[in-house]
Amino acid sequence: MPATLVAPHVAPVTTFVEELSSWERTVALYASDMPTTYHCLGRQDSNLLGWISQGVARLGREETRRRASYLAGYRRVWLRELVTPQIARRHSERFPSVRRLTAAEDKSASSIMSLIRIAPTARNFPVVIDGPCPTCDGAGKLWSTWVVDAEADWTETGYRPCWLCQSEDDAA
Ligand SMILES: [Zn+2]
Repeated sequence: MPATLVAPHVAPVTTFVEELSSWERTVALYASDMPTTYHCLGRQDSNLLGWISQGVARLGREETRRRASYLAGYRRVWLRELVTPQIARRHSERFPSVRRLTAAEDKSASSIMSLIRIAPTARNFPVVIDGPCPTCDGAGKLWSTWVVDAEADWTETGYRPCWLCQSEDDAA
C-alpha cells in the first residue's frame, strides 16, 4: 500500500478522508491552514486532502464530528429560513467568518465531486440543531391532523415526528 501524505493517522489519507461526511470535511477545512481564497488545482488536488487531515488533527475526530452535526443542523434550518437568534449566535461563534465557511463548503464539495468519494459509513451522520427546534421547540414532535383516506373523509389527529428536527434526509 503506497504511503501518500504525511498524516497523523495510520490509514492512508485517502481512506481516512473517505470516511468523513461532506460536513466533516467542511469543518476540517475551516480549521486548517487552507487559504480562504484558495483555488483548486483541478481533479487531483492533493492539497485538499492534506488540509482536511490537518483540520481533523487539530480539532480531534470527535470535535470535528460534533461541529459538523451542528453545521448540518444549521443549514437545514437556514434553508427553510427558520433560524432563531440563539441558533444564529451559536453558529457564528463556531464559524465567525462567513467567507471562510463558504470557501470551506465549496472545497468540501470539490473533494467529493473530483477527488474522494464518501464511504457509505460516513453517511450515518447525526444532524443536530444547536438550540430549541424552531418548529417544535425541542419536543421532537408536532400536534397535527393528517388525511388517512380522502374519499372516506377520514382524518386523524395526534403527534407526529417533527418534520424539521426529526427528518433523516440530507445527512451526508
Ligand atoms: Zn423539531
